[in-house]
Amino acid sequence: MAVKKKRKAPAVENEIINLTNVSKAYSTGAPALKDVNLHISRGEFVFVVGDSGSGKSTLIKLLLRELTISSGYINVMGYDLSKIKHRKIPKFRRNLGIVFQDFRLLKDRNVYENVAFAQRIIQKSNKEIKKNVPSILAIVGLAGKYKAKPRQLSGGEQQRVALARALVNQPTILLADEPTGNLDPKNSWEIMKLLEQINENGTTVIVVTHNREIVNAMQKRVVTLRRGVIISDEEKGGYIDED
Ligand code: ADP
Ligand code: MG
Repeated sequence: MAVKKKRKAPAVENEIINLTNVSKAYSTGAPALKDVNLHISRGEFVFVVGDSGSGKSTLIKLLLRELTISSGYINVMGYDLSKIKHRKIPKFRRNLGIVFQDFRLLKDRNVYENVAFAQRIIQKSNKEIKKNVPSILAIVGLAGKYKAKPRQLSGGEQQRVALARALVNQPTILLADEPTGNLDPKNSWEIMKLLEQINENGTTVIVVTHNREIVNAMQKRVVTLRRGVIISDEEKGGYIDED
């Protein structure tokens, strides 16, 4: 009896993100990303570093399918993002949590409502919301601050709210674009430690940062971009000096 040929093993075990020969050009200027090959496995923690303008945010936006690639192949969580139908994008994004440098909270809503809002969007029941929101606020250390409005909080606290909002729907991947860019060293460390803890609980975490001290100390995988090209990708890497 003929034995069926085994399928070729995937290049990376448990791959959750696959960029193969990806380029991205905006309508103006030089390409923002050039021939990027990046493979990330489920459960990894990855820092993305590089000078301003090197393409870090473009990479994050491609992963979110906020932008589409110009050429190559991109697959995130099994979705081929060049082919995904518009009506499928919300379902795809449900599995992503995202945190930005500038927090992006709803200014007229309190802490509890900012986090609950993310659950309402995906039509969670009030019963679930009442269970999930306090539990995630406790994890980020904001159990006593439900009623505060964003302007009544420090930068570090606001970023914790943003993190709680990103996590409350239990995303498969958490993307953070310079989450500590507006924070002092102490709060930066606390946010990074939270990200590490979230990763230890199984979430794949990708963090864009300029914080060389933290990158060097945490000993995670580090992907370095320079002018749209990955110039290094190291396990337990450090911050590469561009000077
Ligand atoms: P980084 O996040 O590393 O600072 P970006 O991904 O934001 O870099 O930008 C990479 C390059 O793409 C830069 O040269 C930037 O000027 C350019 N770029 C970013 N966004 C746009 C846009 N919407 N239109 C045109 N060029 C852009
Ligand atoms: Mg950026």
